[in-house]
Amino acid sequence: MYPFSYTKASDTREALRAGRKGGRYIAGGTTLVDLMRETVERPDVLVDISDLPLRQVTVTERGGLRIGALVSMAEAAAHPKVRTLYPVVSQALELSASAQLRNMATIGGNIMQRTRCTYFRDVTADCNKRDPGSGCAARDGFNRTHAILGASDQCVATHPSDAAVAFAALEANVRVLGPDGERSIPFSDFLLKPGRTPRREQALSQGELMTSVEIPAHPRPLASGYLKVRDRQSYEFALTSAAIALHVRGGVIREAKVAAGGVGTVPWKLTSVEKHLVGERPSEALWSAAAERAGDGARPLAHNRFKVELLKRTVERQLRTVGGTQ
Ligand code: SF4
Repeated sequence: MYPFSYTKASDTREALRAGRKGGRYIAGGTTLVDLMRETVERPDVLVDISDLPLRQVTVTERGGLRIGALVSMAEAAAHPKVRTLYPVVSQALELSASAQLRNMATIGGNIMQRTRCTYFRDVTADCNKRDPGSGCAARDGFNRTHAILGASDQCVATHPSDAAVAFAALEANVRVLGPDGERSIPFSDFLLKPGRTPRREQALSQGELMTSVEIPAHPRPLASGYLKVRDRQSYEFALTSAAIALHVRGGVIREAKVAAGGVGTVPWKLTSVEKHLVGERPSEALWSAAAERAGDGARPLAHNRFKVELLKRTVERQLRTVGGTQ
């Protein structure tokens, strides 16, 4: 470890003031403390925000759901509104990490957690995300778990959060607070693809603080669920995953929300799959034909070509689970 200072913010204003001066927010600490121990991250000032009043799950005026940034993963997964309105979110959370980590880690921290690329966590390896301009050891290294969608020459790391895939599918918004007040960022714009600046991972300005995630109201009934495919059945990150929500009325799919995890540098919205589903009647043939589009635009690396087919099968299986067979 190395020297750093620690301060606990008693209210939001105090947190923002410290954040503006370059302080790094910490709450559950389940990722950041590990990275500090390994000297991957070296913040000079930690601002503990765990006392801020951001621990509520509420139904919004328009019938959506607002989940405070400091709600723990376990609390969010078990919340009756989350379980009944958006099982896809509960399932994604319950398939994440371990029970101990889910008790500590927050929704905000889970969405903003850093990549699990092993080269990123190895300070002797070249890594543009950790050390801009140094190169990317994964590009020509062992890249079995890396991204097939959204990568750049600079970085091919996947985003590790499962819950973020569910939020992306449901077209949630991220509420953030800064010196100029609160603003809302569509989930699709909040997490950034690496491009030429892989170090920058969220569309946040210096000192801005995530306050909540808002899932908009979707037409009812809405069937939803999350499937995660991984090398072992617990405490492992996704090779592929699929978050799916379907609104079927009069035997026709009126709304389809589909996103994939484990394959993109950010949670990957599968818009061509969604388009293929809307206006159609659920059937085995439809699930199969729609899932064929899941790999559109994929650019596999040397060791992860298998992910293209695995992604299609993951999406097809979860369409069948959520949409049924008729
Ligand atoms: Fe670093 Fe990204 Fe390359 Fe991994 S994939 S080594 S995180 S630049």
